[in-house]
Amino acid sequence: MNVQRPVAPAVRTTCPYCGVGCGVLATPDGVGGAAIAGDPEHPANFGRLCSKGLALGETLALETRLLHPMERGSDGDYRRVDWDTALDRVANGFRSIVERHGPDAVAFYLSGQLLTEDYYVANKLMKGFIGSANVDTNSRLCMASSVAGHRRAFGADTVPCNYEDIDEADLIVLVGSNAAWCHPILFQRMVRNRTERGAKLIVIDPRRTSTAEEADLFLPVEPGMDTVLFSGLLVHLAEKAVLDFDYIGRHTSGFEEALLRALEIAPGIAAVAAKTGLAVSDIERFYSLFRDTRRVLTCFSQGVNQSAQGTDKANAIINCHLATGRIGKTGAGPFSLTGQPNAMGGREVGGLANQLAAHMGFSPVEVDRVGRFWNARAMATGEGLKAVDMFDAIGRGKIKALWVMATNPAVSLPRAAAVRAATAGLELFVISENVRTNDTVNCGAHFLLPAAAWGEKDGTVTNSERRISRQRAFLPAPGDAKPDWWIVSEVGRRMGFADAFPYASAADIFREHAALSAFENNGTRDFDIGGLAALSNSAFDALKPTLWPFRAEGAKPTARFFSKGGFFTANGKARFVAPELPALREGTSEHFPLRLNTGRVRDQWHTMTRTGLSPRLGAHRPEPFVEVNAADARRAGLAEGGFARVQTAHGAVILRVKIAEAQRAGSVFVPIHWSDVTASSARVGDLVAPNTDPFSGQPESKATPASIEPVPFEYRAILILRRDAVLARDHWWSRVAFEDGTGYLIATNDPLEKWRERAPHFFEPRAEMAEYLDERRGVLRLAAFLHGRLEGCLFMGREELTSQWDMARSFLAADAIDANERRLFLSGRSHEGMVNCGPLVCACFGVGMTAILNAIESGAEDVEAVGKALQAGTNCGSCRPELKRIIAHERDRVADPV
Ligand code: SF4
Repeated sequence: MNVQRPVAPAVRTTCPYCGVGCGVLATPDGVGGAAIAGDPEHPANFGRLCSKGLALGETLALETRLLHPMERGSDGDYRRVDWDTALDRVANGFRSIVERHGPDAVAFYLSGQLLTEDYYVANKLMKGFIGSANVDTNSRLCMASSVAGHRRAFGADTVPCNYEDIDEADLIVLVGSNAAWCHPILFQRMVRNRTERGAKLIVIDPRRTSTAEEADLFLPVEPGMDTVLFSGLLVHLAEKAVLDFDYIGRHTSGFEEALLRALEIAPGIAAVAAKTGLAVSDIERFYSLFRDTRRVLTCFSQGVNQSAQGTDKANAIINCHLATGRIGKTGAGPFSLTGQPNAMGGREVGGLANQLAAHMGFSPVEVDRVGRFWNARAMATGEGLKAVDMFDAIGRGKIKALWVMATNPAVSLPRAAAVRAATAGLELFVISENVRTNDTVNCGAHFLLPAAAWGEKDGTVTNSERRISRQRAFLPAPGDAKPDWWIVSEVGRRMGFADAFPYASAADIFREHAALSAFENNGTRDFDIGGLAALSNSAFDALKPTLWPFRAEGAKPTARFFSKGGFFTANGKARFVAPELPALREGTSEHFPLRLNTGRVRDQWHTMTRTGLSPRLGAHRPEPFVEVNAADARRAGLAEGGFARVQTAHGAVILRVKIAEAQRAGSVFVPIHWSDVTASSARVGDLVAPNTDPFSGQPESKATPASIEPVPFEYRAILILRRDAVLARDHWWSRVAFEDGTGYLIATNDPLEKWRERAPHFFEPRAEMAEYLDERRGVLRLAAFLHGRLEGCLFMGREELTSQWDMARSFLAADAIDANERRLFLSGRSHEGMVNCGPLVCACFGVGMTAILNAIESGAEDVEAVGKALQAGTNCGSCRPELKRIIAHERDRVADPV
């Protein structure tokens, strides 16, 4: 008889990666995993998910989880303690340091991965009860310049656009945004608008990204010169008399000063061309398209924000929208795309050191208001230290206690090596985490507190368009893991503030947060969700994705911000801002002649603590790399596929070389994701200068002066293991997750013999070893078999071992390997029927290069035809630019085989 297991109902939740905030349907499988699909009812994605979202089910295993509170002993070893012990000691530690050194001797460093409720209680504890504003977040590295730009222009951190504007715009200008990879679902909405409505797409970026490949016009602007381009646009709009003087006069101030400054920065198109490195004809086309299109949406992200003049860049963009009245109207406005899933929620509760709560600042009136609402014991009265300054203060011994929650600053902050060194001097170092190891955990915190992970957490997040969505738990929290809000509240209670942290659920916190947003608001503040302050527990549980503002019943609803003015400045008018003269903070030099640009790749997220667990996501870019322009590569003596040391005044890494046409001369690109856990030498944060924007405190992560030189390795190796191993850092390696184990891509100068001696230590001692050695040709193949299966292997040679990587993976997955197959394996050849997929191109459907080339050879002439044959590119679409490149390359190759 066929007995069917009951299927648990799908739980509606939200993707924990980027700021698009896609709705997810998670269906638990009953054994700790879940099937993942897009939520067709969520207005951010209407059922679609990108490759990262689709692979969430591969990241739920518990092997890497921190499951119990741990305390580090004087011998440096961690011992498990119970929650009461850990919480008492953490609370006593903070209290004692505050008593001895004052409240500013302690700090919290939070994360855009936290839920709004986690953020709310952490902020409340520090700013209302400890008495310091030293709470900052990794969102400082992501979009703080947009926040500062909004506050300068609008008087509040208001994002004036919605996602529908993406569908309704006639011109979409993307500035410093590789949305095709970093906001794939939104980008596909832009592409659909272009295909179906004929919207034009302009991309402004120093690098020809996958996004740029879809553009009608690509403007490869000189790094740091965006303000010149937009100042020139303001001048052009004034010259062509297309300004909206009615809007300017009624709803703004400071226009003349801003225009005069724009004229100083960009007196004419020739000057703009000289400073931006753009062709005059391209600039003219951009300006005329902007001028002649009423529905213009300018979307910007990290290329604008991660700059020592990021706030000015944001304001230069906003100035053009204010001057034309193209704000607060359908399909028009300046639209900051946030990087993280809950950067916006963090902003709402005041997770940044220069904000208080509910979009309030530190004016005496606001401090008093929040203090009364919280019944605070010790209100912070001024701004705290922003991320870079916070870790400097830790290094100087000024801050003596630090609590890091859900982030990995030892990888992601500028001068990351100095960050690691700074934490060594802390009197109290606490980390709430869900992973047992990452570079920050490995710094040696005094307490590790196990936090619930995505899938186990309950609360809310806010996406880029101000839409609040529920994250709902669909798995039980394992071990002793607890929600972050619970951990913080318990510490607050034990510090003597029990009455202020009485929460029994995320819903309790959300109600208080919503009530604070409406408290003495009366329309004076943008963030008002008072209409949600009285939600019952069941209504909170059922809460549908909701745009704010969501005012209390009876209050006037706001359809759109700013269509008729109504800014949050003292006089209700928006402020034009006159930007500083654009310049990068540091010049290049003889020693460091290049610019180091950093950013994301398509299938990884932040420091890979979650995406690094997914074999599918690891297959697209399995190793850390540096993209170099061909001329720079020639000058430096670099070869495609070789290795290079990228160095700045702050540190060095060794990376695989990719010579890329897309990379502009004079600049190299390195992804941010790899850490000491996933690679031998690839932590790019070590190299980034700590230059920050004077208004936002955001570091200039894309322009550090750098040098590059080749690093020779005699051998390439692959090491494939059913269980993991520890590799020394005197070889180059990159670690990749497999379905059935772990793989290492290795480059080394150690001779074969040394690796031969070393190899048995990698494998299960009972395994039967077999080897093939040809010293003359420099080939070693060594395999370990146990119970008729491959336990692991080490292959070395002087050539790349790409095809053997795929082959070994396939052997590792095989249930049984017979004697003939063993022989084949050791000879470096695949077994019968094994398909070498080649590098992964479409992560959504797991389609590799081999299948794509076969489809093209069989007559597929465009992306649609490849999609029809293989499904590749038909889901999130983020591989479509790559598919186009492959098809064009094959077409050229066939046309000109030489
Ligand atoms: Fe997640 Fe991708 Fe949607 Fe971003 S675009 S929220 S990463 S599924």
